[in-house]
Amino acid sequence: MNVLVVNAGSSSLKYQLLNVETREVLAKGACERIGQPDSVFTHETSEREQRLTLAILNHRTAISLVLGTLLANEAQAPIDAIGHRIVHGGSFFKRSCLVDEDVLRKIEEIAPLAPLHNYAAASVIESCIEVLPQVPNVVAFDTSFHSTIPEVAYRYPLPEDLCEELHLRKYGFHGISHRYVSLVVDELTHGAAHRVISCHLGNGSSLCAILDGRAVDTTMGFTPLDGLMMGTRCGSIDPATVTYIIENTDLNAHDVDMIMNKKSGLLAVSGLTNDIRDLIEAAETGDRRAKLALDMFAYDTRKYIGAMWAVLGGVDVLTFTAGAGQNSPVIRSLALAGMEPLGFKLDPTRNAERHKEPWKISADDSAVAMYVIPAGEEMMIALDVHDIITGTATPDGLAAVSDDAAGDPSGDA
Ligand code: ADP
Repeated sequence: MNVLVVNAGSSSLKYQLLNVETREVLAKGACERIGQPDSVFTHETSEREQRLTLAILNHRTAISLVLGTLLANEAQAPIDAIGHRIVHGGSFFKRSCLVDEDVLRKIEEIAPLAPLHNYAAASVIESCIEVLPQVPNVVAFDTSFHSTIPEVAYRYPLPEDLCEELHLRKYGFHGISHRYVSLVVDELTHGAAHRVISCHLGNGSSLCAILDGRAVDTTMGFTPLDGLMMGTRCGSIDPATVTYIIENTDLNAHDVDMIMNKKSGLLAVSGLTNDIRDLIEAAETGDRRAKLALDMFAYDTRKYIGAMWAVLGGVDVLTFTAGAGQNSPVIRSLALAGMEPLGFKLDPTRNAERHKEPWKISADDSAVAMYVIPAGEEMMIALDVHDIITGTATPDGLAAVSDDAAGDPSGDA
């Protein structure tokens, strides 16, 4: 089965056409800078690479361009089904599901609260149905995996009526990535790993504590701003800082939100960049602020690993994934510095290796087995699509769609 996986961001649309059985990527590409006169469309197959600069007006135009390009090659690689990554499923969606009118209506109902993403995703789904009415669409949510987090961890200690009215709680994000990691760990350990910490360290970063395949806590919260300091996000800070800034400057709530999401984190501390590769280089040449930014990022990661260790009552497996997590031995060793007493012992040679497939980086005498697991969100979505379409999805006790109200603001994870 060939599955087109579509990931609509606020101003981008990334896609991959995957063969689920062979796990081969048949084609991939992206539309970037959507809405600008100089948008960029890239398309890559094993035979050719294409790059066009043109005006892509909106997400509907973007998906038409993608579908047109893929359909021109349909004889070689037909599209059997489409899977869409949706940032926010609110309280409605506890797992991936087939798109029907009710599902589309619920995604749109949540959309005003995650405006940059869910509206774009909904318009992309509608376009796919128009262009390929015979091809089924499935949606996968970044929040779903976290729906098993218990109340003691998801409840915010704010007045109950306020929480209920505004649906304030921890939702968590990066769920598709953490779920893929959990699946791979299960395969790698033949089901022997019960307590897993998944570290997704990219431009957006989060940790997830997983017990027997189910999320029990995560570092992101009501929005993806919470938890670790990230590329341009501040992560967890004293909440009173926000009101203090608003009361003592000309900045309004929207400005502060923008600063905390786009101008903080590694970028703010280093004064240079949010790119971890460049920060490592700058720190090596003696840049003090770059070094501090990296040290703070590693410190946060270490601190939250400790927190998740406590949540799980010990750890069997710890994993690293995403841009920095899977590519940077420096970040991994900085994050785990001083963690041997808790059972995390890296093997420096294994840590320095690079592979396309998951590999072990812990020493043989490490109490916790540690792995790098290359990110697999697209494959996770494609597998969900396959299982839903073929009716082989294993029941996990969670209904796909609940009728709970869903008033859940969000951002990009
Ligand atoms: P996003 O959250 O946007 O999906 P990614 O998962 O692609 O981000 O991660 C991007 C981050 O990963 C960037 O900060 C980048 O510098 C970092 N990164 C990528 N490759 C390396 C590497 N070899 N060493 C260190 N950091 C890396």
